[in-house]
Amino acid sequence: MLRNEEYGVDWSWHDANGLSRVVNVSGTMTALGGSVTTKRVAEATAAAMPRFAKIHELQAQASETIARLTGAEAGFLTASASAGISLSVAGCLTGLDPAKVEALPEGAGPDNGVAVQMGHLCEYGAPVSQAITLVGGKVHVFGQSTQTRDYQLEAALEGAAAALYVVSHHVVDYGMMPLETFIKIAHAKGVPVIVDAASEYDLTGMIAKGADIAIYSGHKFMGGPTSGIVAGRKDLVRAAYLQNIGIGRGMKIGKESIAGSIAAMEQWLERDHAAIRARETEALQMWSEAVADLPGITAKALPDPTDNPLERLRVWVDPAVAGASAAQFAVAFGRQDPPIVVRGHEVEKGYFDLDPCNLTDGQAALVRDALTRVLSDKSAVEIDEAAAHDDVRNGGTESYLNWLS
Ligand SMILES: *Cc1c(COP(=O)(O)O)cnc(C)c1O
Repeated sequence: MLRNEEYGVDWSWHDANGLSRVVNVSGTMTALGGSVTTKRVAEATAAAMPRFAKIHELQAQASETIARLTGAEAGFLTASASAGISLSVAGCLTGLDPAKVEALPEGAGPDNGVAVQMGHLCEYGAPVSQAITLVGGKVHVFGQSTQTRDYQLEAALEGAAAALYVVSHHVVDYGMMPLETFIKIAHAKGVPVIVDAASEYDLTGMIAKGADIAIYSGHKFMGGPTSGIVAGRKDLVRAAYLQNIGIGRGMKIGKESIAGSIAAMEQWLERDHAAIRARETEALQMWSEAVADLPGITAKALPDPTDNPLERLRVWVDPAVAGASAAQFAVAFGRQDPPIVVRGHEVEKGYFDLDPCNLTDGQAALVRDALTRVLSDKSAVEIDEAAAHDDVRNGGTESYLNWLS
């Protein structure tokens, strides 16, 4: 086993700034800084910093790149995908009327409904419903958490300015209405469809299926600076963009992030996806071999639940044999030096996952050695079972509450 310094990971920035080192095998998480960018994206961001530029011109360039990336007519960049949802809903409420833009959220008018099926009312770090109500939209929930029928959407479209569809592992994965049907029913009533596809690799599918607006995060798999990508029908994109003179002001994106996000999108169009996938597969292989003979541990690479082209290693833990539960081990990994953040969304089911998409040089081997060390020695676990579950479930909010306390 290598000593911490010997993996070849560059920790110089963390160490110089007194920050905790972090190994992220959980996915693209806001609390860990989203994703890591390439040098090309960092340079594009840095080049914009010391210069003035006409923002509308930069955004028009972004629009062209977004159109090439998604097949949409137009697009723009904003602070985040969450902002993209709010601005898109607001655009459907106001059209290109600046007085209406300034009147939001109170002045949204009576037809301010946004139809969403109940199983899509997820939280991605904040409730999706709040991204709607924030701008004056009224959530028209339809269906039940595990069942949606056509007539329910038809009813929810009465008095609606938009309909929102969420494609994500965060949403209920059965009994939901397929996107094509959702679009067909909404369009029959003349209501535009906004698709939140923040974390999806499929950049053309939503628009190809007829979505009027599709929204992506620039800082997730795309590896751009923190940003949201709004793509869609030109009239709606322009109306959403106009919100920058109103509610969008607090969701502003700067020139540096526009330049960096354009570079990230160009890079996505050109990058060697197969080579990146091969490197990820190699890490999964290395980790599976490391845990293969550990008592009470079973691991298998599984495809992404929404068909993104990636796999994660699922590690099942039999507590009676391994000496601790999946939740306890997940917490223990976070207390290593350096902390290793695993994907513990479903630890109550007896497993955690390892996501290989955000590794930097040397980290795959570091994770491999930590897996053998922690999973074979329950003395690494300093937290009891119930507390470990509470920690995983409430941790996201607790960390905000504990900040500066
Ligand atoms: C991450 C995510 C968001 C929020 O994205 P940000 O760009 O971080 O605001 C919204 N919706 C879904 C489905 C997500 O996965």
